[in-house]
Amino acid sequence: MTKPVTRFAPERQEIIRHSPRCHCCGRVTADKAFDSAVPGFSILRCPDCGLGRTWPAVSPQDISRWYPASYYGKENVRFNFIFEALTRLFRRRRARVLHNRVPRGPVLDVGCGRGIMLNHLRSLGYEAHGMELSDSAAWHAREQLRLEVATGDFLTSPHRKDCFNAVIFWHTLEHFHNPVEAMARARELLRPGGFLAVALPNFDSFQARLFGRNWFHLDVPRHYFHFGLKSLEAIMSRHAFRIVQTDHFCFEQNPFGWLQSFYNALGFPENLFYDLLKARSARTGVARKHPLALVMTLLILPPLLALSLLLTLVDAALRQGGTIEVYAIKE
Ligand SMILES: [Zn+2]
Repeated sequence: MTKPVTRFAPERQEIIRHSPRCHCCGRVTADKAFDSAVPGFSILRCPDCGLGRTWPAVSPQDISRWYPASYYGKENVRFNFIFEALTRLFRRRRARVLHNRVPRGPVLDVGCGRGIMLNHLRSLGYEAHGMELSDSAAWHAREQLRLEVATGDFLTSPHRKDCFNAVIFWHTLEHFHNPVEAMARARELLRPGGFLAVALPNFDSFQARLFGRNWFHLDVPRHYFHFGLKSLEAIMSRHAFRIVQTDHFCFEQNPFGWLQSFYNALGFPENLFYDLLKARSARTGVARKHPLALVMTLLILPPLLALSLLLTLVDAALRQGGTIEVYAIKE
């Protein structure tokens, strides 16, 4: 009699959380890529599909302590006024990009944050729905913008099935402790022919490979998984999504990924420059603790920024973007 083969079932969360088995391709063992700059965590990489994961994974019950109030900033304002203005411009661009592809109707932004993009989508005539982890994260979208935002677990959210024209994961899929389940849920909510829009850091990119543990976009342990295009394609095709477009040029994310990773690799206090761009209520205070590093950071900023912009163009031309945007259709 043949021995029954255990079905690969990433939806069985408890087993997966305690096993390094790959969520995308099911390979049983993973290689350790490097130790994280955050003590106590390592990054594993699947030798077959390249999917990275933070190990050990923080349990979903404990992850909230890695999202303190300062992570979102007072009244959900995360950046100083210059970068707030830039952020708003970028969100507007995101909404326009989606508008070029998605017909008007219900859309769901999973991890909608302050709801700025969703607000633009609403003004373009969409029925805008948002999803957020907690009430504090959803405060601005709900109270200031009067958007409809559900909070809690996306997998059991109150949204209707087969109804959305688009489900959007904009730098949020990697925050799910089980992205396979999240993808299955997105499929369930989308109408046939509906759009799935996913933007995330590209673990296969030049930035990621060059900088390793110093790569800005790792964001350990909040990012449970580190996708490259191969692993993202694998997870999408398993759920019968057909990719229609992949963009490697992202001016919002990619130059900064190079810039801050250079600083980190050069031995500056981790993410010091990023901290300078934040609103006062969201800062960690690292710049105040290291005044000399702050002066040096500003002194070498012009050449480093020029190099980062140049490398962003090279990345995009070679389809190696530090972050990628992938659009797919539910077949
Ligand atoms: Zn794999």
